[in-house]
Amino acid sequence: MVRLTNAEDYLLCPEPGCVMAEWTHIGSVIVRGRPSEDGPVTYRHVDMGAKVSPPSPDWHDDPFDHTSDRRDSVIIMATCEGGHEFAIHLRQNRGQTEVETKAKGWR
Ligand SMILES: [Zn+2]
Repeated sequence: MVRLTNAEDYLLCPEPGCVMAEWTHIGSVIVRGRPSEDGPVTYRHVDMGAKVSPPSPDWHDDPFDHTSDRRDSVIIMATCEGGHEFAIHLRQNRGQTEVETKAKGWR
């Protein structure tokens, strides 16, 4: 399990041994949702200038496997000042919210 925050609640870079782990920046957000449980999935990408993409049935750089997803999720794309890119996934599944983090290369 990757620890997401330190004792001061700073978001941490998930790259093992990162010396700049506390110095992170949110780059954009991907919202992935369905209006109904069996409805089609729609993605929207929001950059930090609040520019919103048109709805799309997929997102080219989605690092997560959604095969077990039942409903909605939010993906936060971020970087650290050590040059690492990573993504945090908040996923709704049967009334619970799961959190998953991946580093670029999406591992
Ligand atoms: Zn890092």
